[in-house]
Amino acid sequence: MPPAHPFDDDKLREECGVFGVVGVQDAANFVALGLHALQHRGQEAGGIVSHDPVEGFNSVRRFGYVRDNFTSQDVMATVPGPLAIGHVRYSTAGSKGQTAIRDVQPFFGEFAMGGAAIAHNGNITNANALRRELIERGSIFQSSSDSECIIHLMARSMGRSIPDRMEEALRKVEGAFSVVAMTRTKLIGVRDPLGVRPLVLGKIGDGYALSSETCALDIIGAEFIREIEPGEMVVINDKGVESHFPFRRQPSKFCIFEHVYFSRPDSILGGRSVYETREAIGRELAKENPIEADLVCPVPDSGTPAAIGYSLESGIPYAMGIIRNQYMGRTFIEPTEQIRNMGVRLKLNVNRALIQGKRVILVDDSVVRGTTSRKIKEMILDAGAKEVHFRIASPPTAWPCFYGVDTPDRDKLLAATMTEDQMAEHLAVDSLKFISLDGLYRAVGEPSGRDKGCPQYCDACFSGEYPVTPSDMIERGFEMKTAAE
Ligand code: SF4
Repeated sequence: MPPAHPFDDDKLREECGVFGVVGVQDAANFVALGLHALQHRGQEAGGIVSHDPVEGFNSVRRFGYVRDNFTSQDVMATVPGPLAIGHVRYSTAGSKGQTAIRDVQPFFGEFAMGGAAIAHNGNITNANALRRELIERGSIFQSSSDSECIIHLMARSMGRSIPDRMEEALRKVEGAFSVVAMTRTKLIGVRDPLGVRPLVLGKIGDGYALSSETCALDIIGAEFIREIEPGEMVVINDKGVESHFPFRRQPSKFCIFEHVYFSRPDSILGGRSVYETREAIGRELAKENPIEADLVCPVPDSGTPAAIGYSLESGIPYAMGIIRNQYMGRTFIEPTEQIRNMGVRLKLNVNRALIQGKRVILVDDSVVRGTTSRKIKEMILDAGAKEVHFRIASPPTAWPCFYGVDTPDRDKLLAATMTEDQMAEHLAVDSLKFISLDGLYRAVGEPSGRDKGCPQYCDACFSGEYPVTPSDMIERGFEMKTAAE
């Protein structure tokens, strides 16, 4: 499947979304709705596995959007039963950019005590070593996905139940994982000991739901109960929710970028709406980096709440200076070369009447390669703006993520090779400023900023301090930050 749009490679790409439901009739229909609400976390492919006491396990996997694949009665009738899990994927491991259907989750395994399916959000940082070892010991892999290691590790475990085997398997896994799994009768949710990727628990009627984000609970009318804690495993059956902590307890390192960009603004993270946090980031950005201007405009859509915050704090009027075409994605799913060359104009258009003769502050969530920022700046100047000032709602992205987010190689990250001033010059803007790491921590609810001795979040893509050693990548030649950097 080709990349959806030529300029989308200038964003960090969301990882995956997972969703599961137990204790409702036709659970797969709820899962399809949940996955639809999580579509921003992965658009390449999706899959659903269900279990029915009569029909047993069934699965369906498809490329493309949930709404195009999991809405027909014919398809949904193939996944009956009161228990189902699902996954939407953008490949972060495995056959990147050329997903094979065998890489589409959930994965299924048949064990002595019955079958189990598993959907994984995150990235296993020691997957290469695990895979090598498993293959040497006779495992036959069906896919190129790192997540399949979990099924093979479970197969080798001597645990007496599937949750026991999963626990043992996950103790050998390093990196980031939020897992939603199922047996014939149980829905299981697990978060890695650092809790890098999100996972929440909801209640629907007499049943329960697990989801990457709360926005997907809302769509099925489920009540948000709580976040699954870092290192927690929940096993849910008709008797209720059992919780335990099978891993060594460690300080949490939730992905701070979920607050900035990945999660939907209508989700709740850490007890606070993502929208409110992004607005607070915009306020902090305005305090740290004021500038005289006539208008504050978001780069839509992800820059919007931060732009509103910036405007409120600075008193400079907010305006929709750039309009996004919401329907472009469906029209040019396989862009021709001619259309590709139109680049960012396909998706964004400048509201000329507003911009002409104005000093404009553009608020964006991040700068990755900088290619889109440059094009947007040109569009704004073409529309007659007097000055263009970029304000960025995250610190410079100078390091790749190895925990389930697709990032370009380090040398492709603008901030890895240039200082802030050099970036401003490269983008040819009147000014370019990023929120500081401390400012970002304050905005996400840490009044004293970042604890340098033990950071409260994962912020490796900004700081280069990786909370889990990315051993596979080091083996492939990745160089960690040195003391001098
Ligand atoms: S490296 Fe960045 S994107 Fe990746 S988990 Fe850490 S904060 Fe999130």
